[in-house]
Amino acid sequence: MSFDTLGLSASLLDAVRQKGYTQPSPIQAKAIPAVLQGRDVMAAAQTGTGKTAGFTLPVLQLLSAGQRAKPGAVRALVLTPTRELAAQVEDNIQAYGRHLPLRSAVVFGGVGIHPQIAALKKGVDILVATPGRLLDLFQQKALHFRDLEILILDEADRMLDMGFIHDIRRIIKVLPTQRQNLMFSATFSDDIRKLARTIVNDPVEVDV
Ligand code: AMP
Repeated sequence: MSFDTLGLSASLLDAVRQKGYTQPSPIQAKAIPAVLQGRDVMAAAQTGTGKTAGFTLPVLQLLSAGQRAKPGAVRALVLTPTRELAAQVEDNIQAYGRHLPLRSAVVFGGVGIHPQIAALKKGVDILVATPGRLLDLFQQKALHFRDLEILILDEADRMLDMGFIHDIRRIIKVLPTQRQNLMFSATFSDDIRKLARTIVNDPVEVDV
């Protein structure tokens, strides 16, 4: 199996090569074509399976085909349970998207909000966020979701374990109903499946 057959653009294939990856991991082989087709995806994947590239690569490709983000707008939103994971996802986006004219940013709590507000003012194609700080920023009108195209929930099971369910529900409520949804979780418990039913629409299920 080669990366070349997944439908990724030359620029992203270049970035993958520069990372030294020779072949897609199983989750990447299944998730990348489905995301590029515009499908919702529900994937059971632990950390270490390559899940981050599994959503980052196709999302960057989809976003690079459209119009750039307007000031205060976000086109793709990645929700993560912790600031460490948020920073890690943002690092991946920067690395894979280095040749693309897309803007990304990361926001989380426990640090000053003003630099985050300043970054959002410029318009962000792909925002990585922890739920609480995202809601703060939304309430302060630092961003809006009217142009949101793609929602990604990373480590959804950890978000539930950490008590983010209410924040997630509040966020979902203010997103456009027409959007693509990608949900990643180490396990798919009953609670996760219940949450998934309110988020994803006819998803491609990936289990590796
Ligand atoms: P993740 O599961 O997204 O946290 O990724 C785990 C690690 O695997 C990271 O260090 C990635 O850089 C690396 N990785 C992701 N995809 C591949 C691949 N196709 N081949 C080799 N390493 C990879």
